[in-house]
Amino acid sequence: MYQTSAFSFKDLDDMEDFYRGNKEYLYTRFSNPNTDDLGQGVAELEGAPKGVATSSGMSAILAGVLAVVSHGDHIIASEDIYGGTYQLFAHELKEFGIEVSFVSMNNLDEIENTIRVNTKLLYSESITNPLLRVENLASLISLAKKHKLTTMIDNTFATPYLIKPFELGADLVIHSATKYIGGHSDVTAGVLVGNETLISKAKTKVVNLGCNLSPFEAWLACRGLKTLAVRMERQVKNAQALADFLRQNTAIKRVYYPESVSENGNGAIVSVDLGENYDIDVFFKSLQWIRIVPTLAGVESTVTYPLRTSHRTVPEAIRSKLGITRGLVRISLGIEDAEDIIDAFDKAIKTAKL
Ligand SMILES: *Cc1c(COP(=O)(O)O)cnc(C)c1O
Repeated sequence: MYQTSAFSFKDLDDMEDFYRGNKEYLYTRFSNPNTDDLGQGVAELEGAPKGVATSSGMSAILAGVLAVVSHGDHIIASEDIYGGTYQLFAHELKEFGIEVSFVSMNNLDEIENTIRVNTKLLYSESITNPLLRVENLASLISLAKKHKLTTMIDNTFATPYLIKPFELGADLVIHSATKYIGGHSDVTAGVLVGNETLISKAKTKVVNLGCNLSPFEAWLACRGLKTLAVRMERQVKNAQALADFLRQNTAIKRVYYPESVSENGNGAIVSVDLGENYDIDVFFKSLQWIRIVPTLAGVESTVTYPLRTSHRTVPEAIRSKLGITRGLVRISLGIEDAEDIIDAFDKAIKTAKL
């Protein structure tokens, strides 16, 4: 692990070698072997030539966006995106003079009608949070190409184990490595991958804005990366088993779990709308070892309550349009035995029955 802020040189000529391009490392904010490993590791999994690691998912999004747009440009983004991304797009970018229109990614006509002369970027997630809608990336990308827009896809929920947006033609793919890539809920990190030109531009933003990741966090995320496939295999199986179990219960209003996502399965998150037949407070109180957390993707099964976390500030009208109801619970499946997970949810659901 290169837990250092800078690299030392034996003489001035040796240091000059960095500026001549013969040496890779000078100062950790510019680059570091551990952060490079993470960027490159995720790039390889996504089938992209280059990657850059950043201090968080949010800074990966920021660096990617600023590699493509500047003052006066316009972005078209999905109306159904991660809350933090919405804040960045709706408020922060606006102050940089960058405009964002939010549209339904289901509706290609609406996207096309929103394109302006200054539109540069189409931004979407591969699988949405918390209702797990799987976007039709192939048609979004072909529409973007037709209008010469750059596409950027947040692939955090799917991971390259399920979906590889770059191989489908997306220009930039971002990950909150805080989630499945790290996988153990002990690191905050982000990764952006794409072609050499875009990643080199994004890397300049990372350096100048100070969005770099620390070597230790990068090392932890790389360690997570080694087990991504085996964790996903188990977590996806557990999700399918829990979704199948919950769907047998006719008192539950709705189970959200997508179908036909990939040959490796349908994802490791299940959302459930318990509806009117259950007391939601009793449900959360009865979960025993399953913890309530405002994140996802760790090796432990956890639950989140979108109404009071990610969608807390979303106006009620939009919430009900999206399906964020009082009974909605998002479940992130861990690597425990499926029977233990099903048993824990079964007990909580029975206890919460009105
Ligand atoms: C968590 C998350 C982010 C933000 O990542 P951070 O690491 O918290 O900055 C972005 N997109 C999605 C889909 C996420 O789940």
